[in-house]
Amino acid sequence: MMGNWSAMVKGWVSLFLKPNCPLCDRPGKPLLCPNCDRLLQRQKFSLRQPLLKETPPVLIWGRYGGVMKRAIAVMKYQNCPELARPLGYNLAETWLQSPLAKAQGLTVVPIPMYLGKQQKRGFNQAELLAKSFCELTGYPLEPRGLERVVDTEALNKLSPAERRQTLANSMTVGAGFRRSKPKQGVILLDDIYTTGATCREAIKTLSQEGIAVYGIAAIATTQPLD
Ligand SMILES: [Zn+2]
Repeated sequence: MMGNWSAMVKGWVSLFLKPNCPLCDRPGKPLLCPNCDRLLQRQKFSLRQPLLKETPPVLIWGRYGGVMKRAIAVMKYQNCPELARPLGYNLAETWLQSPLAKAQGLTVVPIPMYLGKQQKRGFNQAELLAKSFCELTGYPLEPRGLERVVDTEALNKLSPAERRQTLANSMTVGAGFRRSKPKQGVILLDDIYTTGATCREAIKTLSQEGIAVYGIAAIATTQPLD
């Protein structure tokens, strides 16, 4: 009886205590408020051009600026992992509308985070984005496809050559793929795509084990696309 009562009170209270929008603290619906969601949609690339013409192809949802920049920062640094859900769904929708969606049998692998760093943050945002991406696309997720074995410090202040050097041999094929290799190609998933150095290192690491990367999907980029 007591248990039922407390469950009832909890359910009743949660009806009135809907979490506010993590970006502006106004009532959310169900997470981002309509205003922040509209501002986020403004960062989206047109469907004609969500792809960076690189090999393998890179699909990106939107520009790293405005509310997008803030959403990623709040997710990573203000302990708001639930933001990965709408962002990952957005990315999945764009993927499914792109020519890349024709490929079958792919496995999604998030760009790994150094374990110590991940334990400190409590989550790897790329893994959470990949999880919601997979929920919508139906691709299997292998969170342990890659592992970060070296703690590379923030790369954003380094030159391209320094990035390459810092990233060299920073990853290894993870326990998931050591157990069983994917039958087809892999989709690498990351939050922000800047120079692509991290993804190139991931591609190199996987190719050493004969695993091919079919494409890259990221939420945002600093590069101009359209
Ligand atoms: Zn808001």
